Amino acid sequence: MPNHRIIAIANQKGGVGKTTTAINLGAALAQAGHETILIDLDPQGNASTGLGIDADMRQQTVYDLLLGEGSLDDVAQKTNIDDLYIVPATSDLASADVELSNAANRTKLLRNKLVETGSEKIILIDCPPALGLLTINAMVAATGVLVPLQAEFYALEGLSQLLTSIRHVRQTANPELRVNGVLLTMSDYRNNLSQQVEADARATLGELIYTTVIPRNVRVSEAPSHAQPVLIYDPNSKGSLAYRQFAEEFVNRLNLAPEAA
Ligand code: ADP
Ligand code: MG
Repeated sequence: MPNHRIIAIANQKGGVGKTTTAINLGAALAQAGHETILIDLDPQGNASTGLGIDADMRQQTVYDLLLGEGSLDDVAQKTNIDDLYIVPATSDLASADVELSNAANRTKLLRNKLVETGSEKIILIDCPPALGLLTINAMVAATGVLVPLQAEFYALEGLSQLLTSIRHVRQTANPELRVNGVLLTMSDYRNNLSQQVEADARATLGELIYTTVIPRNVRVSEAPSHAQPVLIYDPNSKGSLAYRQFAEEFVNRLNLAPEAA
């Protein structure tokens, strides 16, 4: 049975919380007993660093998965968290965009590797901040796209472009693809603007928006420099509570999604 729990975490804007969400959703799912593989698809490798995967531990990377012979099982490695695995990235991946553009099947390289594994683990893909071939590979491989949206003034502006790309992928390469949901991140309840953005987003996007909102929390921003998810760094922080609650909602939504045939 093909894996129907492959979620691309995407937004072409940088700094909106994609990587933070990938790391902490992954950690929360694993802590709740769901085996999860996080694929770091950003040449900056922030998800790999944030999970303590040092440069010397990146022998097998997502580059080998996309452009080499490596299978998912070959390139996924354990993290310090039980049940959480990572496929790390290195800066090699920056040139992959160009190499990919010359490859036959260039939008399906990731999909082909994920199809052949038969793994039933949840797969999260942390996308780079662009709608280039790497993100398209993630969308072609995925069953859902999770969109972190920073609660700030221009948040909704880039969204229509992202939704257009998702629609295009659905119509061409991956009819199964759905928007999994939109997660509001870095919300500041002392700030009227955050509340206004949240109200506008809920009015425009309705149930696509997750009920859980991730607050801006300094412990979340400190955790990566300790090479840990905030769930480990400070399990009782507001950020940790929010990501655990979000993970529960996320799991419910996955179970509600129609079973793949
Ligand atoms: P992206 O992957 O979309 O570029 P990141 O997840 O790397 O975004 O987040 C951008 C920056 O914001 C990082 O420095 C991160 O630590 C910080 N950050 C993310 N979420 C929060 C939060 N809820 N509270 C405080 N800082 C956050
Ligand atoms: Mg990132």
